[in-house]
Amino acid sequence: MAHIEINSNLCKSCYLCINACPFGLIKKSAETGKTGEYTVEFYDKEKKCTACASCAMSCPDIAITGVFK
Ligand code: SF4
Ligand code: SF4
Repeated sequence: MAHIEINSNLCKSCYLCINACPFGLIKKSAETGKTGEYTVEFYDKEKKCTACASCAMSCPDIAITGVFK
């Protein structure tokens, strides 16, 4: 099953990844990060993630890793 991991210590809360996911699987979390803004979290209750890596490629801080094709 495809999934991603987000390193909240690297996240600068730019939210590019939220827009990059075609299924809307990334959302703001309740935790704040290094910029004082909310970081993001992966939420895939319906297991829609296709491991397309669009989210990881959109992240300027290489905060997203995971199981990709
Ligand atoms: S790998 Fe693709 S489908 Fe999965 S969370 Fe990232 S952008 Fe969304
Ligand atoms: S693209 Fe990277 S730095 Fe920006 S919100 Fe997503 S995980 Fe954080």
